[in-house]
Amino acid sequence: MISANLSVINKRIARAAAAAGRAPEEITLIAVSKRQPRELISQALTAGQLDFGENYLQEAEEKIKVITGPVRWHFIGRLQSNKAKKAVRDFDLIHTVDRLKLARGLDRAAASLGKKQKILVQVNVGREAQKGGVLAEKCQELLENLKTLANLKVRGLMTMPPQVASGEEARPYFAKLRELADQMAGQGLLPATPALSMGMSGDFEAAILEGATMVRVGTAIFGARE
Ligand SMILES: *Cc1c(COP(=O)(O)O)cnc(C)c1O
Repeated sequence: MISANLSVINKRIARAAAAAGRAPEEITLIAVSKRQPRELISQALTAGQLDFGENYLQEAEEKIKVITGPVRWHFIGRLQSNKAKKAVRDFDLIHTVDRLKLARGLDRAAASLGKKQKILVQVNVGREAQKGGVLAEKCQELLENLKTLANLKVRGLMTMPPQVASGEEARPYFAKLRELADQMAGQGLLPATPALSMGMSGDFEAAILEGATMVRVGTAIFGARE
């Protein structure tokens, strides 16, 4: 079942990429496995899925210990500065860096583990009080400060738009993140082709039309969470 779901999602990604005049290889599917049993993750692995996203450090740690093989783990949840070391130890890419204090903690942790930690800066494009992410107008200042942290590699931006009824309604938020990333890249604060982590089960095609390079899909692959 997981393998069939993955194949449907990959076809939808390819179709959206084609509609946007992009190559499907430009888009990485991250299977969001938070609150999903290990058995389903194993099924996805067997089906060839490589990238997995987790939100909770404790839960992820238990899975990462026992799931072996060529897996790339993405941290997509809220992160506290005092948990930086765990996050750096376990994750290939941390998508949710939104403040300097956290970045400093990650930088120190990376230095002590002898790792260059890849990160994304999370932007609160919808300006929602309850959501993580730096406000768009504060992004440049944060990126300038991140430049001074030698053990972090800032790859691009991530966002979670407000809950809207359809992908079409989410598109302006995705477009805004892309424009911001292009601006920041133009100033040398991000790589020339920055990573854009945006789009979930309900709106990943809209995100691809607006330039997403990583989509984070949970329920459409694994079904409802526990
Ligand atoms: C849970 C989660 C997802 C996946 O959401 P689905 O709607 O299940 O696809 C994606 N991104 C983040 C940040 C999440 O917390």
